[in-house]
Amino acid sequence: MKSLAIVYFNFFVFGHVHGQKFTSLDSLRGAYHPNRSSYDLLHYHLKIKVEPATRYISGSNKLTCKGLSESRMLQIDLAETFDIDVIKSSKGDSRWKRYGNSVVVTLPGSFKSEEIFWIQVFYKGHPHVAANAPWEGGFVWEKDKDGIPWIGVACEGDGASLWFPSKDHPLDEPDSVFLQYEIPRNLIAVGNGQFVKKESVTDSTNLYSFKVSYPINHYNITFNAGSFQTWTDTMQLPESRKVLKMSFFALAEDLAKAKAQWLQSKMVIRTLSQLFGDYPFIKDGYKLVQTPYRGMEHQSCIAYGDNFKNNAFGFDFILMHETGHEWWGNRTSANDHAELWIHESFCTYSEALFLERTQNMEQAIKYLLSQKKKIKNKSIIEGERDVYFNDWLDSDKYYKGSWMLHGLRQVVDNDEFWFSWLKSFGAKFGLKPISTQDIIEYASSYFKKNLAPFFKQYLFRTEIPLLVVKLKKEGEKTLLQYKWDCKEVDFEYPAEILINNKRTKIYPGAEWTNLEIQDSKVLINQFEEGLLYDLKVLK
Ligand SMILES: [Zn+2]
Repeated sequence: MKSLAIVYFNFFVFGHVHGQKFTSLDSLRGAYHPNRSSYDLLHYHLKIKVEPATRYISGSNKLTCKGLSESRMLQIDLAETFDIDVIKSSKGDSRWKRYGNSVVVTLPGSFKSEEIFWIQVFYKGHPHVAANAPWEGGFVWEKDKDGIPWIGVACEGDGASLWFPSKDHPLDEPDSVFLQYEIPRNLIAVGNGQFVKKESVTDSTNLYSFKVSYPINHYNITFNAGSFQTWTDTMQLPESRKVLKMSFFALAEDLAKAKAQWLQSKMVIRTLSQLFGDYPFIKDGYKLVQTPYRGMEHQSCIAYGDNFKNNAFGFDFILMHETGHEWWGNRTSANDHAELWIHESFCTYSEALFLERTQNMEQAIKYLLSQKKKIKNKSIIEGERDVYFNDWLDSDKYYKGSWMLHGLRQVVDNDEFWFSWLKSFGAKFGLKPISTQDIIEYASSYFKKNLAPFFKQYLFRTEIPLLVVKLKKEGEKTLLQYKWDCKEVDFEYPAEILINNKRTKIYPGAEWTNLEIQDSKVLINQFEEGLLYDLKVLK
């Protein structure tokens, strides 16, 4: 604890490779230090009252935890905008100190390793209003056409502590959650997981309860309220043949459009289940909720705020992308905020695979080429671990990440093997958050190939691999010489090039390799549909 006390009061700024400068408060918020690693989060019971008229929330979150080492102190997080009234615990009322958005709690007695204990934080205040949800998060207080409140919250990046007291670090997810929302009677509340009950609290409010039966990312826990029209459906999952319960919540003014457009959810879930294994949260069901912001992957409770229209490729982008996160982001989650590419790259790539399965390869390639135009190569994909990293301005975690995976498929060069790897993540990692390193090691062992230089080149460097070629005339023949020019010197992976417009696979390394071509006139071009690289033809 001594060392932490020093950190708290030295508000220095330290080195960085991205644009973001970090303070010790960012370390406190972003690192998994002893006040977090001393306990394992088991369960949240979040119970709040939401008052739309005054844009005010109040209530408590009870965190049930298991001690991992003996301690009296633990850190939780809560936005500074809220007042904390009291922190109760199984050891008695506790003291606390606030450092920015972090709260260090001192219990009246120590918890021991393996001991189950709880703390309950009572809080109240006006939650941060989102400036531009979901990118800049917070509460969104909208009204429908009849002037009835329509409310949502999005907090990816900012973190769940933006609206409730939580252990706001991706490494430790609660294994289950119980959500209770008290709201005015003219509204319906929607949270993640199974709907448990609705009960009357006062003449003017009802309390809605929901139960989440799986580990869940903190930022995925959500609250929605509105005068929703609702309907239900079911579908059979392709692998287990189990029946998935589905429920839908749309505003009356958009009911017809939502009913038609959201039929797609079945095809999306079926296709993604075939690709990556069955929908991962069957006990919790699948909800689609109309939100006053564009969308978010809230686990088992997808936020949809788009225009009920298909994109140029004939599918609903938000419905598909956010549902894709049920596998990539919600089931397979990053254990540090810096590694959000694990959520976005796989999910963005899954859009192309969805097209490949539901339409054809040609459409999938066309789609990938449309993603390729959006790659910036300005900032590295991997963020900085152990700090509150939120500098995603020039991030390539979507499109370049998708192209990295598309490229890896070329390197693997065996579709059966490739798809079995993608499908194996659920069995390999379960619902446990993982790191970039875990994925590199898993890919290398699965494909029996050292893929560290491959991942490092795309995730940790801004520049993409450069393929350098030289042409040398030798009578009626031409000698083609080629090599990779990469900072990752062990980047030794095959690539395709176009030789006189014919696709040719070559195996460049760090040194020059020769290829004899039986032609005196040779034109070399990049193969745009394959591995992501730049081509330089030396004169
Ligand atoms: Zn996404």
